[in-house]
Amino acid sequence: MPEEQDCLQCGKCCEKWGWDQKGIPEDLVPWINGHRTDILQHVSITFRDGRRTTGKNLAAADLPRVTRIYYWVDPRGKKLTYCPFFFRADDGKVYCRIHRVKPAVCIGFTPWNEGIRDYALDCPACRNSMP
Ligand code: SF4
Ligand code: SF4
Repeated sequence: MPEEQDCLQCGKCCEKWGWDQKGIPEDLVPWINGHRTDILQHVSITFRDGRRTTGKNLAAADLPRVTRIYYWVDPRGKKLTYCPFFFRADDGKVYCRIHRVKPAVCIGFTPWNEGIRDYALDCPACRNSMP
């Protein structure tokens, strides 16, 4: 399997897997430092004492007390069943509105390298790489 593979930006993976995912503290650092409340308001944060909130007012000093990071919620903390940064353009291709700072779970998603071609997702880029 090739390590590099052109994603066709069909969006199927983000539609199917782009929500109900766990995050890591490292995802949050550039969002906090960059004051990206537009992103942080869609992150559910659970603290060691059980308190849950969105990441909107999160500071770097809070990170050691964070025990769970969840993508994605609405600004009131209600779980979403889609990614709020998913955008389908007029050309039919899907774009990530936070591509440069997207979370690790999204950066690491390269299905053609995972040996998961039969994971019930019809990824056309994977199909193109079939021998
Ligand atoms: S953040 Fe970007 S890459 Fe991740 S699921 Fe949303 S649209 Fe897809
Ligand atoms: S399903 Fe495959 S081709 Fe479509 S956006 Fe995801 S990785 Fe790219």
